[in-house]
Amino acid sequence: MFGSGFGRFTSPDPALSSGREAIPQSWNRYAYSLNNPLKFIDPFGLYEFDASVDSTQQQNFRDQLKEARKRLKQIQKIYGKKSDEYKEAKTAIDSYGCEAGTKKCSEKVGSSQVIIKTGKLDPGVGATAARNSTDTKVEVTLDSTKLSNGADLVADIAHEGVHTQDHLNYINSGGKTKVSDYDTEFRGYLVTSVMDEAYPASSSSRPMAGQNYTLFDEKWKTANAKLSAVENVRNERNVAIDKLLAVPQSQGGLYGVTPTNPGNSYFP
Ligand SMILES: [Zn+2]
Repeated sequence: MFGSGFGRFTSPDPALSSGREAIPQSWNRYAYSLNNPLKFIDPFGLYEFDASVDSTQQQNFRDQLKEARKRLKQIQKIYGKKSDEYKEAKTAIDSYGCEAGTKKCSEKVGSSQVIIKTGKLDPGVGATAARNSTDTKVEVTLDSTKLSNGADLVADIAHEGVHTQDHLNYINSGGKTKVSDYDTEFRGYLVTSVMDEAYPASSSSRPMAGQNYTLFDEKWKTANAKLSAVENVRNERNVAIDKLLAVPQSQGGLYGVTPTNPGNSYFP
């Protein structure tokens, strides 16, 4: 989720199995270094639009996904290929993969597990990612206003990519691969933040929509003279994300989760 208010995260109990065999994708595994020991990664993601997304909105999505890939190169330059920052951002973007039914993508429309939708979301909500009612696909819903003008969409796409991959892992492991709400949102906002950092001229100190939180600030680089810019940014970013996630919903927060009270509503 990106923005404020909870989207449609609570999914039916995943007593799934149907559809799994039909997934036209190959899987490999890689160890990942935050909280989660093992994840399934699909290196060849696949997405398609549903009927709610018009042609202008489709093009805006494609353009901003391309922009996200461009920023990924910058993130690699800053942090290196082995960093969590790069790996998380790459995994998020790769979760979309290619667009079914296009010249570059031989997979047929209808075979994708990732469906891009749009519509009216709750006030203040920019985007959501959720499993469909049969726990076979991930539906990424992007705010129709943003999707229509394409502005400020790149961070939403990347952030939802984190949740998308987590949902895919959950679906394709038969509900065994779970992460806490804190875990998926922490990594979601980590990716939001590095997407901002990758183009600081246009987006530094960008406050989160409707909130007084900054997820990247150029000033972070020099917070402590004894530390490198990257070390400083990591420290400041962790504090900023934890602060955002911890605000209780009763006080207008979105999540109310912390490392010791991480929540499990997304992947029960
Ligand atoms: Zn989120």
